[in-house]
Amino acid sequence: MQKRLKQKLQQGGSFLVIAEVTAGLHFNFTPIERFLKGFAEQGYQAIPKGFDFVSISVPQNPGGMANIEPVDVLGRIKLKNLLNGLDFLPHISCKDHNTDALVSMLNGFRSADVESLLVLTGDKPIRSKGVFELEALGLLRVIKHLNSHIFASARTDRLDKAYRYFPGAAVSPFKYTEPSQMQQYFKMEKKIASGARFLITQLGWDWKKSQELFSYTRENNIDVPIIGYVYMLANNKILERMHAVDVTGCFVSDRLLAKVKSETLDDHIDRAAQQVAMYKSMGAAGVDIGGVHDFDTFTKILNRAAEIGPDWEKYKDNLYWPLEGGWYLYDDDGKKVPLSKPRKKLKHRVFNGFHSMLFDRKHCGFHVFRAVMKFLGTKKGKGFFYKAFFCNEKLFKYVLFNCAECGDCYLPENFSICTIGDCEKGMDNAPCGDSTADGRCGNNLDIMCVGEKIYNCAAAEGNIDVLRRRINPSRNPALEHTASILNYLFEKDHTMTHPFISIGESVHASIPNTGQIMRKLADLGPDAYEKDSPQLDYIKALIQSQAADGADYIAVNVDAFGETDPQTAVDIMKQYVKLVRKFSDGVPVCVDSSNDDVLIAGLKEWYDTDEPVKPPMLNSVKTYTMHNVLPLKKHFDFVFIGLLMSEDKPTGPGGSHSIDELFGLAKQLFDEATKKYGFAPHEIFLDSTVFPLAIDMPMQPDVPGYTYRAFETMKKIKSDSKMKDVHCSLGVSNCVRDLPGRKIGVMRAYVHTAMKYGCDAGIVNPRHKLYTGEPAPELMELVSAYAKMDGSTEKCNDAMALMSNFCRNTKK
Ligand code: SF4
Repeated sequence: MQKRLKQKLQQGGSFLVIAEVTAGLHFNFTPIERFLKGFAEQGYQAIPKGFDFVSISVPQNPGGMANIEPVDVLGRIKLKNLLNGLDFLPHISCKDHNTDALVSMLNGFRSADVESLLVLTGDKPIRSKGVFELEALGLLRVIKHLNSHIFASARTDRLDKAYRYFPGAAVSPFKYTEPSQMQQYFKMEKKIASGARFLITQLGWDWKKSQELFSYTRENNIDVPIIGYVYMLANNKILERMHAVDVTGCFVSDRLLAKVKSETLDDHIDRAAQQVAMYKSMGAAGVDIGGVHDFDTFTKILNRAAEIGPDWEKYKDNLYWPLEGGWYLYDDDGKKVPLSKPRKKLKHRVFNGFHSMLFDRKHCGFHVFRAVMKFLGTKKGKGFFYKAFFCNEKLFKYVLFNCAECGDCYLPENFSICTIGDCEKGMDNAPCGDSTADGRCGNNLDIMCVGEKIYNCAAAEGNIDVLRRRINPSRNPALEHTASILNYLFEKDHTMTHPFISIGESVHASIPNTGQIMRKLADLGPDAYEKDSPQLDYIKALIQSQAADGADYIAVNVDAFGETDPQTAVDIMKQYVKLVRKFSDGVPVCVDSSNDDVLIAGLKEWYDTDEPVKPPMLNSVKTYTMHNVLPLKKHFDFVFIGLLMSEDKPTGPGGSHSIDELFGLAKQLFDEATKKYGFAPHEIFLDSTVFPLAIDMPMQPDVPGYTYRAFETMKKIKSDSKMKDVHCSLGVSNCVRDLPGRKIGVMRAYVHTAMKYGCDAGIVNPRHKLYTGEPAPELMELVSAYAKMDGSTEKCNDAMALMSNFCRNTKK
């Protein structure tokens, strides 16, 4: 039967064993084949009781040298039928593949039904140029994003069968300086936050350091399974290279070198076995055994480990080869040592001073600087003044920061340190695991690891907690070799804000498939929203995928639950608000309901946490309900969508609201919200409601269309001197109801047209990114015709002719 690492790790209960198998030089498959043939001959009965041999792991171009790709290894293994029920754990690294290539590789693994992956930044290539467009965190986030999309679009009746990647990541407790070690622990936490489901340690021979890792994870309530990497040291070239700091990230002390050189093969096996027993006793989920080339030696290690059992402490001396004077997070009594507080360096002070004077958007220096640069025409990214500025920027930033012209500058986020120019891998999120025992870069011993520098600057600023949490998004490769300062000034870099606020619409109980899952989830009982289930995973995927697609808010609507008992909707909203808070990566919730009790309960629940959260959104508030909801502003910060509808009978043409009436409702909401309840204009979103284009046909002459009225109302609101800073929002999906096709295209054209009238927010599927790209001209023409349908026969005929053409062509 096929074993699954994922399943075993999720179930727990057995001590897992993975064998790391590597091809020989010159793409030689023989060592892998020999190992697996040995296993085929001896079978599982050669593995001692208490050890569950579950998988082989295959490094990708280890040591930065070209070798057989893991997917190719898998192909050959399958061809020769050598897996014998074992799982296959490929390493996937960012060193020699760009983002697209990694996504393609992931797709290959999906087709081959490989779920578990070990995600690594990877070794710096020896002969080729390293890519590192992503590093481990970036790749984990790509995988998380893929997983959410795969799951959110899976068949809802087969969720338990839906495929998902199960990524793991590396962690090294074997660093001997405070900055390097703490950065490793922080990065481990960031890897988990980015989606790592298990961890495999770096190799190292210091039981105190191994124990430190388990103490740290316990102290910080990290329950992700940890697999100890056990590398069998032998008297060979690798040993010499590790000792000579020629294998990055590994530390072999002089004493350990001498000891291993004096030993026999049995001694080497014994040390590896002692380490296996040690990890088992410390609470690891399993071990990954490397440096072993034949199945006999592999089973000897396991059998000896079984003999040692819990008595590993007898061999502590043989597992303790530290750096003399090396740093440990806990003292011998298990007490945490105080962390250092270095002084700010002059360069760091100069950077901070400059930054706050010229680049802080709250500072007038920023606005003057920006205005001058705009006046000189540098925003276009070309011309004399642009080139002159870029030339000076390059010189200045190169001399001061080793700037490598990425164009998407993270100096402020990295406490004045450049992770491109100052790092051999040019990583978005430093460090990797390659630093030496004394904190130098393992790929260039002449420099300190950039992770050390960042840590020291963060500690000097008293901002270690910020460093601990901060995950930099991947840089925009299109900005490479452009002026980063101008990109920042004109919001072309990662600080860019979008011209359209997206409110993700997918968690809505009235959407048939989603509603069905939401009901099934509710039926699972009181702990349904905490206990793993395919239904909960589906909701998680909806939340995560919208957050990853750039939603500014994640809307939740559970009104369908309140049809018979309104209290049910209140209770369920609270659960969904918690889920958004937990899984949205900081994107705030939009509590969407026509029931004020649900809105109020959702708002209160959002703030029922000690964690800092962004202000949520409430949708919707009307003139006749605002006095129930808006007073809460005094106690809870929030923004709201005000719906332009009233209980009074409309008096406009055709028996619906006129533009003046809609504007009057907007003004009423605005005045009350700002004057009575203390809302700033930008905290108010006004929604003039979207009518489906397919039925937006006035039945009487001289009656303008609904789309016309909605758009003209927005225009009027945005032209009002007091209301110009409010947001105009629309429930965009409504516009395509009953259309025969091209719905995304029509919505894109609708948003682009609406934006011309002042719309800057919408309830949408953020994945569609409706505000970007060029809408099809014929669809723009169609929507524009509706936007202009002012009641005249001519405009009405234009719109109808375009609509019938559209329907005819689309049906074809
Ligand atoms: S500077 Fe640090 S993070 Fe960069 S490659 Fe070297 S060891 Fe890795």
